[in-house]
Amino acid sequence: MRSLVLIGHGSHLNGESAAAVYRYAELIRGRGLFDEVVEGYWKEEPSLRQVLKTTASTDVTVIPMFISEGYFTETVIPRELGLGHQGPVPPEGIARVLGGRTVRYTLPYGVHPSMRDVIVERAREALPDLDAADTALVVLGHGTTRNENSNRVIYENAQALRGSGLFAEVHALFLDEDPKVGTWPEKITAPRVVVVPFFASEGWHTLETIPEDMGLTGDVTEFPDTPHGPQTVYYAKPVGTHPAVADVILHLAEEARGASERGGDEDRAWHAAWQALVSLARRGGRLGEVLISAQSGVYEVRHALDEGRPGSDLTTVVTPEGLRDLTRRDEGGNHRPVHTLRNLPRGWRAVLSEDDLVRGVHFLYPAVVEETYAHHCRTLRATPWPTTARRQTGIYSRVQRATPEQVEHVASEVCANCLRTRLWAGETLAQTFFSGVPGAIPCAEACTLLVAEVREEVSGKRGAGGH
Ligand code: SF4
Repeated sequence: MRSLVLIGHGSHLNGESAAAVYRYAELIRGRGLFDEVVEGYWKEEPSLRQVLKTTASTDVTVIPMFISEGYFTETVIPRELGLGHQGPVPPEGIARVLGGRTVRYTLPYGVHPSMRDVIVERAREALPDLDAADTALVVLGHGTTRNENSNRVIYENAQALRGSGLFAEVHALFLDEDPKVGTWPEKITAPRVVVVPFFASEGWHTLETIPEDMGLTGDVTEFPDTPHGPQTVYYAKPVGTHPAVADVILHLAEEARGASERGGDEDRAWHAAWQALVSLARRGGRLGEVLISAQSGVYEVRHALDEGRPGSDLTTVVTPEGLRDLTRRDEGGNHRPVHTLRNLPRGWRAVLSEDDLVRGVHFLYPAVVEETYAHHCRTLRATPWPTTARRQTGIYSRVQRATPEQVEHVASEVCANCLRTRLWAGETLAQTFFSGVPGAIPCAEACTLLVAEVREEVSGKRGAGGH
């Protein structure tokens, strides 16, 4: 049995940030090569601190869904997963045994050599008859930033593609460092130029800054008068959104797996937690803000405040993904990075099989079943605030300066609206939803939303009462 975990950045504000990781997880699930594919995030749930607990198997491969190496792949993710590693990740990845699971952590997908095939695919989409006789390729990167070390992969890809014989010229150009993208007319002599942005997703840079810096007016732009005569530029989509990235991820996972053919076993703690949840569901009961009932071999999940409403009044979904998508925003359309905040929208019901119930509840309340069952069994360990604060690096290291009063002040506002009970702050929780108290859910460690708010408080940027 094997689990694959895809790690994304996520966002406290933007609900679309996680969409690319969801899409790749669904594509890879469809291939059936892993028993499960789970997503985890820095700024959403399940968080990096929680995600390993949510995997069903003891054989876990973790792939950072980043386009290049840098601060997140080398510092934040290894630290938060508890890998005991900081700094560059070796080509063979890092393997550790954590809490009974064998965890293999790989390089980010963007640095895998097969991304070169994705660059060529994107170039061919933009210019189907590309010809080595008259076509130049530009591999376009952002350039090294505080968080990413992206230029190396751009140069390596350009170098390798130069040797492919597919293009008359291959250039590595950048948005934010030399050689800059705006210098292309001086450097490129071929009459046709195909530009492939080596970016994770479509966004401000690919839609606005790159076209502006290059003088592009659309997917194809004619330049009748450049230092090298008339040239035409063909602008491709970013590599990170190409469906072939799913193959790159699978290559990475296969390489990380090495000789381990058998995989692992079902994780006993995970299994016991979900067995307990299924037993609760069979009896019918409440978990957080939802009501679960069993009806002729399937389960219905709905907001507890919609109890008794006819099904025809509610939007019905029949897949875990449908439940996920309906509950990712509150009724005002705002993103819900912390799923235990009491802002679950009403007006829907999910009708699910038993297998789908497990995945549906995982999406609805990530890590809640595993952590609450561990608390129920007295095996959940809380991480006090000073430990969380000491671990922070980069812009978040500032939270180490927060006084206990500041932390309490922020928590009194942020956590007031959360179902979880702050074990990390010394609060106690005698019962859980497993013992019949629906909203009784432990919080073992301050979430990244709270850490971010404490940082704002320490920086003096947090408005009175606002968050
Ligand atoms: Fe909820 Fe506060 Fe815990 Fe975050 S830190 S999960 S807001 S109780």
